[in-house]
Amino acid sequence: MNIDISDFPESDGDWTEENWEQFLKHLTEEGIVSYKEIASALLSALNPPQVGTGVASKKSFQKHYPKRKTMQAVFEWFYDQTGVCEDCGTRLELQADHIDPRENYDNPDDADTLDNLELRCRRCNVIKRPSHKKGGLTYLTAAAGLMWILFTKRPTTYKEYEKLCREYGMTMANIRFREAWALAIWLNKNEEYEIEED
Ligand SMILES: [Zn+2]
Repeated sequence: MNIDISDFPESDGDWTEENWEQFLKHLTEEGIVSYKEIASALLSALNPPQVGTGVASKKSFQKHYPKRKTMQAVFEWFYDQTGVCEDCGTRLELQADHIDPRENYDNPDDADTLDNLELRCRRCNVIKRPSHKKGGLTYLTAAAGLMWILFTKRPTTYKEYEKLCREYGMTMANIRFREAWALAIWLNKNEEYEIEED
C-alpha cells in the first residue's frame, strides 16, 4: 500500500525522522524521484564546493594577505572548521558567513577577514537576514520549502499554492512560486498531480 502523508504534522519543523523517512519513500513510490537521485542530490549538498575558492577570489579578502598567499590562508581556516553549521549543526549546504556582519563596519570590506568567518548552512544564513523574519517557520531552505509545500499540501491551483507559500513565510517574489509551480504542471501531464482550472 502506498504511504499516506496527509496526517503528518502541519509544519515540517515538527516532523520526526520517521516522517521524513516515510516522505522519501512516498516520493519514490509516486515516481517523483528514485533513491539513486535522492542519494545524488544529498551527496551534492554534502560537498562544500566553492566555499574556500569563493572566499579566496574576493579582492576584499586578498588585500589582508601577502600576494598569492590568500588561498593557503583560506584553506588553513577552512580545514580548521568543524564542518557543521554553527546554528543548526547540519553538514549540508555550508557557506562561509560573517560572524560580525559587513553592515556593522564603516568600510564593509574590513569585515572580510578569515577570523570573521564561520560556516553556516544556506537556510540558517538566509533566515538571519531581517527580510526573512518569518523564514524560521519552516526548517527547510526557501527552495526546498517550495517543493515541500507542493508535495505535502498538494494545492490544486496556482492561487492556492501562492497563498500557502505566503502562509509558510516565504518572502520571495511571486515569480519564484510560478517557477516552482512548473513541477505541478509537468507532473500533471503524466496524471501524477491534480490541477484544477484557476
Ligand atoms: Zn544551519
